[in-house]
Amino acid sequence: MYDVIVVGARCAGAAIALLLARAGRRVLLLDRARFPSDTLSTLYIHQPGLACLDRWGLLGEVFAAGAPLLTRLSLSFPGAHLTGPAPALGAITGGCAPRRYALDPLLVRAAIRAGAEFRPRTTVVDLQWEDGKVTGVRHGTPRGSTTLARAHLVIGADGRNSTVARLAHAPVVRQDPRSTRVYYSYWSGIPDHGMRIYTGQGMGAGCIPTQDGLTLVSVQVSRTIPAPNDRQRTYREMARQSSAELDQQLTEGKQEDRLYCCSDLPNFFRRPHGPGWALVGDAAHNKDPTPGRGITDAFNQAEMLAECLDIPLDDTRQVDAALVKYARQLREEFTPAYESTLVTARLDPTEYIQHLIDNQHDPAFTDRFFRSFSGIN
Ligand SMILES: Cc1cc2nc3c(=O)[nH]c(=O)nc-3n(C[C@H](O)[C@H](O)[C@H](O)COP(=O)(O)OP(=O)(O)OC[C@H]3O[C@@H](n4cnc5c(N)ncnc54)[C@H](O)[C@@H]3O)c2cc1C
Repeated sequence: MYDVIVVGARCAGAAIALLLARAGRRVLLLDRARFPSDTLSTLYIHQPGLACLDRWGLLGEVFAAGAPLLTRLSLSFPGAHLTGPAPALGAITGGCAPRRYALDPLLVRAAIRAGAEFRPRTTVVDLQWEDGKVTGVRHGTPRGSTTLARAHLVIGADGRNSTVARLAHAPVVRQDPRSTRVYYSYWSGIPDHGMRIYTGQGMGAGCIPTQDGLTLVSVQVSRTIPAPNDRQRTYREMARQSSAELDQQLTEGKQEDRLYCCSDLPNFFRRPHGPGWALVGDAAHNKDPTPGRGITDAFNQAEMLAECLDIPLDDTRQVDAALVKYARQLREEFTPAYESTLVTARLDPTEYIQHLIDNQHDPAFTDRFFRSFSGIN
């Protein structure tokens, strides 16, 4: 019998397992993936996300993996260019983009050090119910059979297509249309000018230095533009249209990896709890990745849930009340950024471009804009 079973061991799952294990809970952490492994992501972590890693004592390990601190920010729009130092959050003076095959296992190792039991390559296939309450999960074993693990609480941190959400019948309480498709790859030979975003009409590009001397170059395309047949050609063409500077750098650089594509980018909130179960990270709330908030949000949600669960977990009434509080906080704290993401992901700067053109040379305006972009109040 565990206190908590966490399904999914990446940004949300490993983080909540770490925090609950540090609080002395018996935690079982399961993931169907083998670790270390990669997952679709353009990697960028904003300052509030790095602040979580710092609070958890893991920021040094993240930098040791080799991703540089990105202390310069530049956001370009048609006719407007904002550039300058990234805003500081306490001692954290920029964002960072570690590879997920480095970041996620680092979090898992920290959870194991804190006492969590981790089982990779373990797929959850069903929930165990007793008297209308989830009391455990049924998961695959290496021998191909299934087995039951029991806990006071099951947390689904298993991503936007969450199995736990489906099996618990978690309703979607808000849903908005998908906005973009994302294409990205890794390049060598691109000069490091910090984090750069180019937003055009119906398309955008991002240039994000990561580890091993590589730069992740992403292209976001509005779904109002039909999906291309030749993705590689479209990726390169959209990068060219987004910025002459970026086009020149890609011509001189070298694409070192295949092209990664993702069009399954829904925008929603699910009800993140029920009797004996809770959801965290993308399982609870997903939004278009254009502003690069998902990892930071997953960390913040893990902290929020762990704080709410600072109660006896065998007391069903207290757990139910704690999860109601968590759901309210999640909705209140993440709705404003969700709504601004829906606007940003339209990739249509016409509404606000004149304002940017008029104010682009005002350093106070740039600082405010960068703070908002980075999620720093
Ligand atoms: C193309 C793209 C680009 C992105 N770029 C950024 C960015 O630049 N910055 C940013 O902050 N965010 C970005 N995001 C969002 C970010 O990647 C997610 O918000 C973040 O990974 C959420 O973490 P999570 O732990 O909730 O879910 P996930 O990372 O999806 O992890 C879920 C885990 O659950 C496991 N799992 C699923 N089902 C089961 C099961 N039945 N049994 C056991 N295990 C299971 C999976 O194997 C997986 O390891 C991007 C997303 C996409 C798709």
